[in-house]
Amino acid sequence: MTNSDPDLFDPETVSFPSGCLIAGELREGLGDPFPVIRPSDGKIILTMRGADLSDVDRAVEVATQAFRSGTWRGVRPVDRARIFRRWAYLAEQHLDELVQLEAVASTRLASEARVADIPKAIEIIRYYGELMSRTHGDVLGSGGNALNFTQKEPYGVVAAISPWNMPIILSTIKLAPALAAGNAVILKPSEFTPFSIIRLAQLAVEAGVPAACISVLPGTGPITGHALVTHPGIDYVTFTGSTQSGSVVMGDAARHGPKPVSLELGGKSPQLVFADADIDIVADTVARSVIRNAGQICFAGTRLIVDQKIANEFTDAVRRQLLTVVPGPTWKQASTLSPVISEKQSERILDILRQGKEAGAEITLGGGLYENVSGGWFFKPTMVERLEQDNPIVQEEVFGPVLSVQTFSDPEEALSLANDSQYGLAAGVYSANLNTALHCAHKLQAGTVWVNQYGPDDIASPIGGFKKSGFGKDFGADGYDKYLRLKNVRIKFG
Ligand code: NAD
Repeated sequence: MTNSDPDLFDPETVSFPSGCLIAGELREGLGDPFPVIRPSDGKIILTMRGADLSDVDRAVEVATQAFRSGTWRGVRPVDRARIFRRWAYLAEQHLDELVQLEAVASTRLASEARVADIPKAIEIIRYYGELMSRTHGDVLGSGGNALNFTQKEPYGVVAAISPWNMPIILSTIKLAPALAAGNAVILKPSEFTPFSIIRLAQLAVEAGVPAACISVLPGTGPITGHALVTHPGIDYVTFTGSTQSGSVVMGDAARHGPKPVSLELGGKSPQLVFADADIDIVADTVARSVIRNAGQICFAGTRLIVDQKIANEFTDAVRRQLLTVVPGPTWKQASTLSPVISEKQSERILDILRQGKEAGAEITLGGGLYENVSGGWFFKPTMVERLEQDNPIVQEEVFGPVLSVQTFSDPEEALSLANDSQYGLAAGVYSANLNTALHCAHKLQAGTVWVNQYGPDDIASPIGGFKKSGFGKDFGADGYDKYLRLKNVRIKFG
């Protein structure tokens, strides 16, 4: 890429909504200041004060009062659905602004955010807006002299904690269904990428969601996140982030409740390629799943497990695809490879690669940062081969564009390699043979199995992990039901 590549927008002209959004008012938090840095060039965008304990107290108090008064959950679902449609409409009207807020501080390419992330967030709002008007319980058998039924009710005040890697989608996928279910929601976005979701929450208020039912509190995990999870006024915690932080959150929720939690955590997803797969098409799919957001996606398919009969030909095809990337700032038209989020993250990737090499692995492509790309942290697409199963490059979530390559000689060996992992978020299978595909889908220990495709393409499909990838689902009807609790009512008559 050259400096003459056109900018999709000028990052210097973007104005950022900064602070804590409580009761519709955006005010600087009272917590310690922290810098928000552009990963594309390392520049500090602004210094922000996160929410401290008193900000959290205030947001919880406002939300609790709003929930108790019924200003939102007491509104007919069809009327709440109308407000959600207006919210989606307003977001569409602010597409350009949301793209810029999403892309400047994060690793999301503006070109992708425009056609994928922001439209998907809008689709999420519409989807849960529709679902809320169809919430119903069941009428149960009663033995004759009673009416026996179940009804679904919101929990109360939901704390939603989201990561930096897909900021607007991963925040909206909590905010929209939890609100749709009638809860009041306090969202803590990642301190690295708070802007797009603050703006989207402001648009929700403009559309008619009561301001007290939607707060956004940027801040760090150990201060703002911890204060929220442990607050006695929080009734439910929904968390997306690393397995390590999720374990802390679950322990805190148990000690300070117990209160229900759902956890969407890390992954190290395998992609099984059989000899009858279409090599060029599948190589392109596998490469894309590693390159997208520079591998910083929970379900990135970063463990290639390929039939040894086609291993050389297939890995050559993947390598060719990986070499086509154009690293560059998120706001440049020509960029196809994002930066990694921070210098610390690039050092972590290098450290895992070093450990992997010491354990006998060979890096056959990439292995380090590009030099002279706009001052950001751009990691070269990397392939690692000759790996034992216990190599950290096979077992650890790297969260970078790093593909481990292993081979198999029969399907059972492929499954055994794939399942020998602490994680179980997703898996891919590529084969023209239906029996092979179904057998693998049945045996793979993962919350999602994609066959002859990779990555979610339907917001109605639930996503959520097995094993240390968490529990509870986001997306789909399950990602809505989890914000409702079931009550049984039995009325005797006659
Ligand atoms: P992280 O765990 O560092 O942080 C996630 C969020 O939790 C942030 O908002 C952070 O401030 C907060 N947090 C951290 N410690 C906390 C604590 N003790 N109490 C309360 N909140 C706390 O993760 P990250 O680096 O932001 O995101 C990357 C991780 O997220 C990866 O492991 C990735 O796989 C995972 N992830 C999972 C999914 C999924 O759907 N399973 C989706 C996206 C990302």
